[in-house]
Amino acid sequence: MPELPEVETIVRDIRPALLGHRFERVSLSHDDVLRGVSRRRLLRDLTGVTVREVSRRAKHAVIDVGRHRLVIQPGMTGSLMVHDRPLTADEQRYAVFRVALDDGRTLVYRDVRRLGTLLLLDPKGWERYTGAIGPEPLEAEFTAEQLGVALRRSRQAIKKVIMDQGHLAGVGNIYANEALFAAGIDPSKPAVRLTPDDHRRLHAEIRRILSAAIASNGTTFRDYRTGTGETGNFQLELLVYGREGEPCRRCGTRLTGTHAIDARISVFCHRCQS
Ligand SMILES: [Zn+2]
Repeated sequence: MPELPEVETIVRDIRPALLGHRFERVSLSHDDVLRGVSRRRLLRDLTGVTVREVSRRAKHAVIDVGRHRLVIQPGMTGSLMVHDRPLTADEQRYAVFRVALDDGRTLVYRDVRRLGTLLLLDPKGWERYTGAIGPEPLEAEFTAEQLGVALRRSRQAIKKVIMDQGHLAGVGNIYANEALFAAGIDPSKPAVRLTPDDHRRLHAEIRRILSAAIASNGTTFRDYRTGTGETGNFQLELLVYGREGEPCRRCGTRLTGTHAIDARISVFCHRCQS
């Protein structure tokens, strides 16, 4: 699933094309991506609105249209783009949500397997929604001490805790694996056992890796595309994710892959991480 760097890339790409533009016609091919909103209400409340702001929160693209916020969480096979020409037959086939803009362009949420979600929230609903998500790791106010407070409360594996959106926004499997390798921390270690020095290293590595991934337009393993339809490039810089069985770039030991921590693939070096 697209994580913070991928959604940030999408948002930066589509923001200039959407700001100040009106939604002329809105259509939805399938209702199963909707959460907490009916098709009728979605189409009614979005037709004729003007885009005030486009931003990111955690792994969601947030389009502020005045009375509501349209919140899109792209799924593993999802992409969000503004097209300036008519859609091809292939583009139409998987276009789940489509908005004709006042300048003739089209905003399209495409999702082959429809694993993504769409929400439409009023100001109160948005407050509740964003209030349940943890701090943004790239914000200046986010400190190692703040991370430490969240980690000291949990006996769960550190990898699970940093991927829990209630503790920290935007980190998923790829960047959790990478940050823990860079910080030299075993992903299965109970969060409560990390030292203040671990908190400082992990905090610094999470921020460094997420920033580097944004600079590379995110990680494309299979389906992820930027807001202009390009692939990301950070897959070229991954040190552990997708490399189980291959030699550690730091010490040469074979990297271990396991599904035992959280049912997702965890890749780590048992020599460099403890
Ligand atoms: Zn190693």
